[in-house]
Amino acid sequence: MKFKNFPIYRIEWVTSAFLIGTAFLSLTVVPWFIWTYAKDIQGWGFILALFTFYYFATGISITLGYHRLFSHISFKAKWPVKVFVLIFGAASFENSALDWSADHRIHHKHVDEDEDPYDISKGFFYAHIGWLLFRLKPKPPVTNVKDLEADPLIMLQHRYVQWIGLVVGFILPAALGWGYAVLNGFTNPGLTAMACFLIAGLLRTVIVQQATFCINSLCHMFGRQPYSHGHSARDSAWVAWLTYGEGYHNYHHEFQHDYRNGVKPWQFDPTKWVIWTLSKVGLVQDLRRVPDSRILAAELKEKSRTLGNDVDHLVSRLDERSRELKASTIAAAHALAKDLAHRAEALKEAAITKAEVGHDTLQELRGLLNQAAEMLESLRQADASAVA
Ligand SMILES: [Zn+2]
Ligand SMILES: [Zn+2]
Repeated sequence: MKFKNFPIYRIEWVTSAFLIGTAFLSLTVVPWFIWTYAKDIQGWGFILALFTFYYFATGISITLGYHRLFSHISFKAKWPVKVFVLIFGAASFENSALDWSADHRIHHKHVDEDEDPYDISKGFFYAHIGWLLFRLKPKPPVTNVKDLEADPLIMLQHRYVQWIGLVVGFILPAALGWGYAVLNGFTNPGLTAMACFLIAGLLRTVIVQQATFCINSLCHMFGRQPYSHGHSARDSAWVAWLTYGEGYHNYHHEFQHDYRNGVKPWQFDPTKWVIWTLSKVGLVQDLRRVPDSRILAAELKEKSRTLGNDVDHLVSRLDERSRELKASTIAAAHALAKDLAHRAEALKEAAITKAEVGHDTLQELRGLLNQAAEMLESLRQADASAVA
């Protein structure tokens, strides 16, 4: 976009001032304050505990609440859970649950298209934060959250979201710091209160925002696509570490109503663990899971599509002798790619006709995926040893 074409009249002034202002203060005033007053501030243990609590409470309220509960209805929650995520979601300053969900449902419906509010084809900056700083088009009327509009708690938060955010996100940490300092007889309660405001309020807001924004930007750019290449969403383990488990975005776009994003047991998805734990104590229920056979069908189909190309790419890097040595592996990999395509079709067929797929069959098919991985690894090693 040329600068003269920059849509000045489309700038969201309040949002822009908030996002840029808080980020600027976090990079300047916060380090300066800590550097200057570190020795004089009392109650560092409390300040860091408050930061940690707010970091998880506000972040999980977005991922568990705004995202998996309200946008995707991937489980049902009792009112204490709803109230918690509405209060601390407001304190993450990412707008109301209603507006967030409306945008997010459009994102899933029109992913990578012009209507997608954080369309990655407009570039990293736009998908990450640009879409909040200026709107390229007028905001379409909100019509896709009728179910949420029927919930009085969600509507109450929608009406007062900025006030709740201000009180819970900024004023409360400062007040708690002040109270803790007075109770403990600290010499300068104002300093502890200011540290709580700057670290658990301001800095935490910026960290949680930037982390969650990565799902719209990085997760549509970097990572693997084990479930589908039909959209730009990718699985990225390291973004999962930044985002309470939301980094497994390829799975999420393929199966958006599943309460899990990191569907494999070893994948880092604390949001999923919290939902599961809450279900065990009766605070949430009706957790939606995609059947294993459907997930596996997607994986087999995707692997059958990529295996042949991956093998060809690796083979093109091998010298003549390594190619001869690996001839049987190369042939077997191409045969397996064809077999996987048939197996994926059969599984899909079974899902449509609701035919039972036995545990042994699923295990066998998982074994085929492992075989494919082993074949690629063996070709990769041949390439590495040739280079060495
Ligand atoms: Zn996405
Ligand atoms: Zn989603």
